[in-house]
Amino acid sequence: MEKIFIADAMLGIEYFPEISDNEISERAFHSGRVILTRDTRLIRRKINRENCFFVKYDHYQDQLKQVVKVFSIDPMENLFTRCLLCNKKLLNIDKISVADSVPEYVYYTKDIFKTCPSCNRLYWKATHKNNVVKQLKKILELK
Ligand SMILES: [Zn+2]
Repeated sequence: MEKIFIADAMLGIEYFPEISDNEISERAFHSGRVILTRDTRLIRRKINRENCFFVKYDHYQDQLKQVVKVFSIDPMENLFTRCLLCNKKLLNIDKISVADSVPEYVYYTKDIFKTCPSCNRLYWKATHKNNVVKQLKKILELK
């Protein structure tokens, strides 16, 4: 089964910067998510006993390494499949329908486009992807 996570504000992740401890606990409990946190108060809550994971490092590189290792995550498996803003799964979209929405150069050099069903943001493969993969491999010490 796919592991799904919820991260609190102390990790510096932007998902729920203003969420209360009560709300994050309730959401995680009812949606079966694992709370990634550096907040020991969250971990001590009874409701979180089964689904809370303490991230022990300060730096995001070390945090990433810890979570990937402990949960046996393949970091490349679902890379670039979700919206950076909404975290919704991206959907394929016909090239012709993005003609007026992307820069001309992009339209003529790319064939595959994806869109977010929630915010309608468009995605295409660019040099950014290669940089992210390179950075991720470096952090996780992968070849
Ligand atoms: Zn989106």
